[in-house]
Amino acid sequence: MAAAPSIETPAKSYDAVIIGSGAGGATLALRLAQAGRKVLVIERGDWFRPTQAGKNDYLYDLITPGDGMSYVGGRTKFYGAALYRYRESDFRETQHEAGVSPAWPFGYDTLEPYYAEAEALYRVHGSPEGDPSEPRRSAPYPYPPLPHDPAVAKVIARLTAKGTPTAPIPRGLDQGPGGACVMCAQCDVHFCSRDAKMDAETAALRPALATGLVDLMTLTECERVLTTPDGQRAEGVLLARDGKQHRVLAPVVAVCAGAPNSAVLLRRSRTDRHREGLGNNSGQLGRHVGAHSTGTLFPLISLGRLGARHTKTFGLNLYYEGAPDWPYPLGIAQIAGQVPFWRLAGKLKAPIVREIADHSLTVVHMTEATPDETTGWAFDGDKIGAYTTPRHQAKTYEKLRELTIGAFEKAGYPVIKARRPVDFWHETGSAVMGDDPATSVVDPIGQVHGIEGLYVADASIMPSAGAVNTGLTIIALAMRTGDAILGRLAQHAAQLTPAL
Ligand SMILES: Cc1cc2nc3c(=O)[nH]c(=O)nc-3n(C[C@H](O)[C@H](O)[C@H](O)COP(=O)(O)OP(=O)(O)OC[C@H]3O[C@@H](n4cnc5c(N)ncnc54)[C@H](O)[C@@H]3O)c2cc1C
Repeated sequence: MAAAPSIETPAKSYDAVIIGSGAGGATLALRLAQAGRKVLVIERGDWFRPTQAGKNDYLYDLITPGDGMSYVGGRTKFYGAALYRYRESDFRETQHEAGVSPAWPFGYDTLEPYYAEAEALYRVHGSPEGDPSEPRRSAPYPYPPLPHDPAVAKVIARLTAKGTPTAPIPRGLDQGPGGACVMCAQCDVHFCSRDAKMDAETAALRPALATGLVDLMTLTECERVLTTPDGQRAEGVLLARDGKQHRVLAPVVAVCAGAPNSAVLLRRSRTDRHREGLGNNSGQLGRHVGAHSTGTLFPLISLGRLGARHTKTFGLNLYYEGAPDWPYPLGIAQIAGQVPFWRLAGKLKAPIVREIADHSLTVVHMTEATPDETTGWAFDGDKIGAYTTPRHQAKTYEKLRELTIGAFEKAGYPVIKARRPVDFWHETGSAVMGDDPATSVVDPIGQVHGIEGLYVADASIMPSAGAVNTGLTIIALAMRTGDAILGRLAQHAAQLTPAL
């Protein structure tokens, strides 16, 4: 009989093991380390290495579909750093045309102080001006809004003159006096070679490593979360690295592998005590997935070529809660960065797409796609199975598109209306939070129902996607879960200390 493979156990001990170094994981690691806790971060990807020194690499040249963007920093290495707070209405139950956006187990006020801290950590530049959906805030934005490129400023002036208010996009950049950001064109969907984008690595993981209390294992896959024989507590993780298995024990395990990877990891960690997966006693793992239904428009703003510019500085947020002739929330329209879409088009179409891009802004409109118990991923054994998309609000999506086209046309800009199948971005859910274990996977603080010391802190716990970018909410939630973990660790230490 072949000998069982040996499992190595590192001598070093940790207060917490965190799986994943994206928005949730890196922020959580920093939170725990700042309070003096020893943390091990496990990342299956490597540090992102640019293919040519000094060049900002473009996402779609580098990834193959479905690879999960596995780098240190997770998906934020390529994100657009649009860091919005959810609107107050996003925390309440809201009827949409073809579904209901569920109530969160707590209101906006609970998360507000964490939003303020998250904005400071990720250096968010913004202003509430022009945005009727902007929620209450206890402190102003930590940095002023980004300056507009002159071509963009001209568009804003014409939109405003024709009665369409615009609002700055809150962005997490190291911009301003002494900052590394030069407002170049390669931001959205690019890696930033200047480290000027405040992503999970630059804003949170590096400061966490600098405390000396955090170790990072790259190119290491977490295979399973380990639980005690009675199934009631997390006790560590089983890792795979360089063809070897390692067991690391810790009183706290935080799964921050992103949606749907956190759900997959909980599924494949199943035991006799949790036959369908950790936190899946009532079959909720993988479900309740929400997202943004997105579409793209190209308002032609210049007869001459625009050249390289930083365009992602404003959005139209006036339709967030609906419109006079529309009873449902509509969503937002945002100017994107200069994304080289033509590189995704076929050989024949590419020159036409490039010509359009050279004279236009790229406008992305986003409407909430609602979650319910039928949306999300099924499992095929321990692997991800069939996917049911969140509920697309088809008429509402079209209405927002029409209103956005109308606003630009009224300002004198013809709009190229690219028609492509609806894309679902910014997925939330699959290990959703709630008070009731019958309808959720984790409790309102992020601890898996019925398993002490096991937490999830990433996009998968969010009950809904709202219609603004989800990153800042993931970050704020990770800070809040971090505080609960610190409380638990203090309690754990007190239990281990013999009474004198
Ligand atoms: C092109 C693009 C632009 C975007 N722009 C914006 C924007 O402007 N604003 C915004 O708010 N959001 C934006 N997003 C979305 C945002 O990046 C994500 O919502 C956010 O990164 C999700 O954070 P997370 O912590 O849930 O997961 P992730 O960032 O995906 O991190 C999860 C990490 O876990 C690792 N991992 C997974 N499984 C394992 C395992 N078993 N073992 C070890 N490691 C594992 C992964 O490699 C990954 O690094 C954008 C995304 C993309 C792709």
